[in-house]
Amino acid sequence: MFTPLEGRSVIVTGGSYGIGKGIARVFARAGANVLLAARDETRLAEAAHDIGAEGKGRVATVAANVAHVAGCRRIAEAAVAEFGGIDVLCANAGIYPKTSLADLTEDEVDEVFAVNVKGTMFMLQACLPALEAGGHGRVVLTSSITGPITGDPGWSHYGASKAAQLGFLRTAAIELAPRRITVNAVLPGNIATEGLADLGDDYRKGMEAAIPQRRLGEVADIGYAALFLATDEAGYITGQTIVVDGGQVLPESTAALEGL
Ligand code: NAP
Repeated sequence: MFTPLEGRSVIVTGGSYGIGKGIARVFARAGANVLLAARDETRLAEAAHDIGAEGKGRVATVAANVAHVAGCRRIAEAAVAEFGGIDVLCANAGIYPKTSLADLTEDEVDEVFAVNVKGTMFMLQACLPALEAGGHGRVVLTSSITGPITGDPGWSHYGASKAAQLGFLRTAAIELAPRRITVNAVLPGNIATEGLADLGDDYRKGMEAAIPQRRLGEVADIGYAALFLATDEAGYITGQTIVVDGGQVLPESTAALEGL
């Protein structure tokens, strides 16, 4: 039903584990050539081996830090060198250290904004010429329900960064529309990843209790939403968001979940 993505060139930042690896696996299964970008070379190599073993497309890696413009440019250049262009950018790399507002430091805020916001903006900027040259550029940001829709104590800086991504997205979508590039975002709820596991069992159990489906999401759930937004058939959708959260943002009160 959808035009196959076989042979398309896809960048996934934060592709070595967590949601990014899930997104990369979904695109590789769809036959796309996928470039995984992250900082740790060993984990990148493991992910490439894992995904490459079952995907139909080629898998390549580049070690780079999206917090720096030079890192973003290195990632875009690697995709062009490996696959001859860029059709899809999944700007997914992000960090979510927990610190209460009273304890926040300038360095912590700078780091979260450097990775989550600057990393998104300059990744897209670095990919622009190649995305435009392909004639059907697709950009899918990984934002979050935290910030754009919900709040969570300890994550005020993170929530601000995830909302900032959407402010960026709306103007980028307008600016890039004449270049036939769409810019959309997936807003995950709580997805089972390495980063989330670091928050501990109590966090996981609390979230499971707050989700109508009573389970965390899987990384592939985000991958499928990103894959749809990357299709030719989604070409008239731009500047939009898809919430993938098992219904987490829906309850008006805890009473709405009682007896489920
Ligand atoms: P994760 O398990 O911690 O994985 C993070 C990935 O990003 C890794 O590949 C990591 O590799 C890479 N990364 C981190 N900092 C980077 C940097 N400066 N430059 C390049 N790569 C970097 O995180 P996750 O849970 O999958 O989250 C991924 C995205 O989804 C984030 O944007 C996050 O805000 C969003 N999200 C997650 C959830 C959730 O429930 N998990 C919910 C809502 C939104 P290296 O450390 O080797 O660089």
